[in-house]
Amino acid sequence: MEAALFESAHSALVFAHHYQPGEKTVLGRLAGPSGGGSGRGLGGLDGSAQAGMILRELGELSELYQALLIARTAPAWDICPCSRPCCSGRKANPVWVAAIGILSREAKLILGGAHASFAVRAACVKRHLLRKNERTPVDAMAAEYEINRQTMGKYVTAISKWLTNKEKDALTQFDTVLRELGMVGSADAVSQQNMPSNALFRAAA
Ligand SMILES: [Zn+2]
Repeated sequence: MEAALFESAHSALVFAHHYQPGEKTVLGRLAGPSGGGSGRGLGGLDGSAQAGMILRELGELSELYQALLIARTAPAWDICPCSRPCCSGRKANPVWVAAIGILSREAKLILGGAHASFAVRAACVKRHLLRKNERTPVDAMAAEYEINRQTMGKYVTAISKWLTNKEKDALTQFDTVLRELGMVGSADAVSQQNMPSNALFRAAA
């Protein structure tokens, strides 16, 4: 594998988790540089094989690291094609749900002696994954789970801090793995090292 296809481990994971065979629009949107700057893309390569390879490497990481990266980059919802009248048109992505479960379980350890329920920990994990303007205020969370506001705030802060640090570690490790495989690289590295043997780059440039 000579071609560096992705700018970062994060973008490689987003691609792998959203890849649908035959969906060129998804390929183009997620895998290619949006501004067309670097001239790289997935044209001519087997996207399915790329996605499979990324997920296989992901599966080699520790359970916690896998969960952190899946929670961040996999879709929470899948489209449901059943078209029954009772269907909302979407269903929970079991891979994402399992990742949230693992993180919520592990979060217990970092709260020390505090007896936060699994549901409270899961709410803190999900909150962390949202953008700031999408987050439920801590007051509302405290009311929902009938917990003291200050206690809820402590849980939210502690879990978010833990996830931020671990996520960074997981991404760094996975970035190294994908760089060694040549799947992630900077535009400079691609042009300097891989250009001569990289037909994909030449074709697109
Ligand atoms: Zn359905």
